[in-house]
Amino acid sequence: MARAKAETSNSLKISWLKKQGYFPKGESWRSGNVTWTLGMSENKSSIGIDITAGMTEEENYIRLHYTYTDYWTKEKSDMNYKIQLETTPCHFGGVRYWFICPLSKNGQYCGRRVGVIYNIGKWFGCRHCGDIAYQAQFEGGNFRMGSVTEPDVEKAFSEAKTHYYNGKPTRKYKRYLRLRQKMNNSWIRAASRFGNIF
Ligand SMILES: [Zn+2]
Repeated sequence: MARAKAETSNSLKISWLKKQGYFPKGESWRSGNVTWTLGMSENKSSIGIDITAGMTEEENYIRLHYTYTDYWTKEKSDMNYKIQLETTPCHFGGVRYWFICPLSKNGQYCGRRVGVIYNIGKWFGCRHCGDIAYQAQFEGGNFRMGSVTEPDVEKAFSEAKTHYYNGKPTRKYKRYLRLRQKMNNSWIRAASRFGNIF
């Protein structure tokens, strides 16, 4: 099917998929490919999409195939990510499709019915989960997008008791400055990812 460029760099909308013809009337199986530019890295990512629709509720789903590259470690993971779809009746006949957010945090499944899913680090999920991920990055929570957290930076700062010695920054102070820089870069990167939803 159509090879298309997503209209935004970090989200996937049901309305957009519909416009691309992924939800024809009746039972269907559609597959395609979307090329994305993720975050500030300008790296092109290709995401394969399979959609099964028009069946029973349990059998309606979208499957995303993509390779996730960790920003810091450059480690690659092949993702095969299934997201349940749900339908509600439309005013003018037919049905409207929704994503069911598959993410969970501390064992609690999200399950929100949403029209848009966002790229959240390695995963895709709803805006609410994106919000949690964004916060957690600075609290050392489960969703950590970088290898450095705010507490790490604060610890480094408290360990650097002397900042300058003979007019030069001390080793521990330099370490703090390095972590601070990394954290700031991570902040900018995350903000660019989630910039349009907050
Ligand atoms: Zn969610």
